[in-house]
This record gives sequence, structure tokens and C-alpha cells, in this order.
Amino acid sequence: MNGSLKIGSIFGIPILLHWSFLIIIPLLAWLIGSQVTLTTQLIEGFLQWFVDVGFIFRGPPVPQIQINTELITAGYNAYILGAVIAISLFIGVLIHEIAHSVVAKKKGIKINSITLLIFGGISSMEEEMPDPAIEFPMALAGPFTSFAIGLVCILIAFASTLITNPGIAGVLVFTFGYLGLLNIFLFAFNLLPAFPMDGGRVLRAFLARSMPLHRATRIAADVGKVFAVIFGLVGILLLSPILILIAFFIYIGASQESTAIKYSFLLKDVNLKDIMAHEVATVPPTMPVRDVVALMYSTKHLGFPVVEHGRVIGMVTLADVHKLVPLDREAMQVKDIMSHPVLTLPPGAPVMDALRVMSVSNIGRIPVMEGDELVGIVSRTDIIKVIELKEM
Ligand SMILES: [Zn+2]
Repeated sequence: MNGSLKIGSIFGIPILLHWSFLIIIPLLAWLIGSQVTLTTQLIEGFLQWFVDVGFIFRGPPVPQIQINTELITAGYNAYILGAVIAISLFIGVLIHEIAHSVVAKKKGIKINSITLLIFGGISSMEEEMPDPAIEFPMALAGPFTSFAIGLVCILIAFASTLITNPGIAGVLVFTFGYLGLLNIFLFAFNLLPAFPMDGGRVLRAFLARSMPLHRATRIAADVGKVFAVIFGLVGILLLSPILILIAFFIYIGASQESTAIKYSFLLKDVNLKDIMAHEVATVPPTMPVRDVVALMYSTKHLGFPVVEHGRVIGMVTLADVHKLVPLDREAMQVKDIMSHPVLTLPPGAPVMDALRVMSVSNIGRIPVMEGDELVGIVSRTDIIKVIELKEM
């Protein structure tokens, strides 16, 4: 996902932080700091519900949960607590994602990265066409981990009521009660049957038992879009920027998932040799940059393999030229600006591989090599055209 920052890696899986997640930390800090009374009531009500449920079986007297806010509201404490809670929430989301990855790893699926977003995380998998039998337990692992984290926090909150210092007890009950509430919310929210939430995957795995995967994906993605529209409308009505942002991400996520599966379905049996251009315009490393630009104008190709003594030694593209100031274009040669080593694929490689390499490395074209010989070239535009043809 674009706009993500790598913050480390766990079990060899890179952990990325999406910019939207960074919004939630100051936002929560502010929300808690400015609405202590409201939040306290919410947490008291939430904890009270557990007490009531527990006491149904044991009979009265029902103790009243009351949070002492003396220490919470002192100075900037509320804002500091807000930041602490937000960061702890972030750790909870991370554990949720790791739970997905652990199940995936056990089932032999490689996880490329984990991205943390405003409403949770996204684990990017190697597999293009997920196996419903694997996806089902994998999708459920995350929400149930959040549920477990939530329960542990609630237990700590209850244990904290036993502390004699009312101020400190208040802070702990408030913090762990809120974390319990948030993690239980994460559990419920992620089980919504809407892509890209875990519930969407559960729904797809369920549907895929009786229909092809791409159709199951489309239905699950459409359900996700309906949820996104509902969230968006409610968000506008309540003037809630968080809800509107979440709606936006659900919509984008649902569309991306549905497109990715559609592409891998349409391109399932297509190899590079079926769609590559055989006539490859190449340039020598000593060609002046301005001549390359002229060649781009005349051929309408925006990138060329750089060939020396029959060997491909680099790639030069419009993006490489763009990096130069006009004066350098006059003075420089292809070898000064070309990118190398070159990513190449054999003619027998699936087109999906080319598409993946292109999106991961953000390149527009890939030379096709049979051993050391350049036999063709395939561009993103070529692939899009094939997809459009196959869609008929
Ligand atoms: Zn999840």
C-alpha cells in the first residue's frame, strides 16, 4: 500500500505503518483528553455490563463500577493517557496481524508485509488465489486474538479496582477498561462481512464452497462497498471524519481485492510469450539522452532496453529522463542515467508475475529474455489491453 513507512520486522515480515494510522494517535489523545467525562461513562457502562452479566448467575448485590477521575484529569494527564492508550491499541493491532501471519505460515503461505492502517492491519500475502480452506482459519485468527487481548485488558481493569489508592486505581481501570473496549470493538468490527475486513474473507471462503473464487470475491467485495457507502453516509450525517475515512478505506480495499482476483483469474493461463512485443527497440549506452527523447517521440515507447555487444545492460525510461534538468539532458548519455541491473523474465513466465514485479518495483515495462537473448518486451499497457480483451 502506498504512503507506508517501514518501522521494523517480526519473524522476517516487514511491518509497515500507513499514514492513516498516524492520525489515530493524536486524534485519540485529543479525544480522550477533551472528553474524559464522556469516555469515563462509556468505560463504566462497558465494564458494568460485564459485571451485570457475571452477576446474573450469582445474584445480587451488584457492585457499581465507578472510575475516580481525580488523577486522570490532573494537568495534561488525560492527553498523556490518550497517547499511551493509542500506542497500546497499535500494539494490539500488530498482535492481531501477527496472529494472521502465524496461521498463514503454518499453512505454508508467505506473508510479504504487514501494513497497519487506521482501522486495523492488512497482511499482504504471496498467494494470488487464496485457498478457502486456508483462508477461513487465517481470517478468524486475527479477530479472535483481538477478543482475547480485550478480555485480558478487562480482567486487568477489574483487578485494578482492588487497588486502595483511588487515583491510581482510576487511571488503571480507565486505561485497561478503554483498551478492553477498543480491542473488543476491533474484534466485532473486523468480523463485519466486508472486504477488506477479516469478515469479508470469512464470507468469501464460505461463498467459495459453492461457486468459483472470483465470483465469491466479487460478491464479498460488493458487500464491502455497500458497508462503505453506509459508513460514509452515517459519517456525513454524524459529521464524523473517522467514519468517513474508514468508509473510504473499505471502499478502496474492496475494489483492490476484487480487481486483483479478477486479474489473476483472467490472466490465469496467459504467458509472456503470448502477449509480448517481438520487435524490441533498443538503444546503445553511448546514445545521447536527447536522442533517446527523440526516439520516444517517434516510437511512442517510453522505455528502452540498453544493449551493448548483444547484451542487455540496463533500462532507460522516461522517468530516468525526467530526473534530469534540461541542461543535463544535453550533456549526458544513456549509460549515465539508465537503471541496472535489469529485472527480466523468461517468455514462459505467467503474465501475473510480470504484473506483480511491475507493481512491486513500480516499473512500466519488462524485457523478456531467453537465456542471454532479448526476445521481446512487455509493458503494463500491453497487459491492461489483454485484460480488456479477456473481459469481453
Ligand atoms: Zn485481521
